[in-house]
Amino acid sequence: MIKSFFVSLLLACMIFSTPSLAGGKHDFSFKVSRGDAFYKFFYSAGLSGKLLTKLMTSDESAQRLNNIYPGDEFRIILNENHSLKQIIFNPANDNPLFIYYDGKRFSFEKSNKQPVGDVSFTVITINKSLNYDAKKAGVDAEVIKMMVDNFSWEIDFSRDLRKGDKFVLSWENEKTPSAMIYISGRKTIALFSHKDSLGRKKYYSANGETLNDSFKFAPAKYNRISSSFSLRRYHPTLKTYRPHRGTDFAAPSGTPVYAPAKGLVKYVATLSGYGNVIYLKHGSEYVTVYAHLSKFAKGLKSGERVKKGELIGYVGTTGMSTGPHLHYEIRINGVHKDAEKVKLNKKSIVPNAEMAGFQKRAKRILSELNIK
Ligand SMILES: [Zn+2]
Repeated sequence: MIKSFFVSLLLACMIFSTPSLAGGKHDFSFKVSRGDAFYKFFYSAGLSGKLLTKLMTSDESAQRLNNIYPGDEFRIILNENHSLKQIIFNPANDNPLFIYYDGKRFSFEKSNKQPVGDVSFTVITINKSLNYDAKKAGVDAEVIKMMVDNFSWEIDFSRDLRKGDKFVLSWENEKTPSAMIYISGRKTIALFSHKDSLGRKKYYSANGETLNDSFKFAPAKYNRISSSFSLRRYHPTLKTYRPHRGTDFAAPSGTPVYAPAKGLVKYVATLSGYGNVIYLKHGSEYVTVYAHLSKFAKGLKSGERVKKGELIGYVGTTGMSTGPHLHYEIRINGVHKDAEKVKLNKKSIVPNAEMAGFQKRAKRILSELNIK
């Protein structure tokens, strides 16, 4: 009883003790050490116990200030009359809390962007999906699409993402991030922005290459193109005019077929028209199709990643076909394109002259984010 009275008295003294003189300073920064409490910092800035009580009872967000840990940081900013203007609470392992005071009431703002040196960053922790969790973290749709377009060359968003995987975006005063980093228990993929000579921003891994791959024109050695892409072609088997939404490469049965770019095996099947067919997905936009194969490469199965130039199957004449050839399709966002004419994006590389600067910047961003 007596003991608890003294504890209460002690607390009351601490809360209502008179403010110390803070001199001419208007901006105070504090780092939390073991045993620290928020009120200590509040008083160190020359603010009163009465104001502290008002702050702590103003909004439930203020309760966050009761749970501080070593490494957390505070900034307390006063106006020219030495009255409280703003408190920035920057916890080591959480998003920052901004508290504003207009002389009458407090307002609270929780930010998804964490200030770190010159760089601020957003952490997206996967709970449901990238789209859902990134939106929740305040990332706009354009940036989410950019993340998908880039990372899809290495990550299959429908299969590879796990709960708890993280995406970190770093920002340096531009609408799009200066770096995008995927971190999971299995791998880390870090991409850094770099502008080409025309000012176009692209994302490169630390070795200076974009994640997307350039496509080789033909996936197999061939004698001739026996049938080009056409929206109206006389079909020799069906004896009618039908679109031919692919390119036929005539080649002997058994000729190896290689992936023209790195990708993901989406589908391996035997269909009545296509015969033995493989669908490869490259990034978020490209799908390529290989039909009438005599057989598949040993062990090839859907969900597997293939490298550029990796054997996937052999030319044949299975399905609706009049002779050995490879029927090859390129689809971009679901639309069939003429392989002989389409211009596909190429892998970009940071020019030699800019490489040292690019890599230095990449290293700085990683160290500011404390990622190895
Ligand atoms: Zn064909």
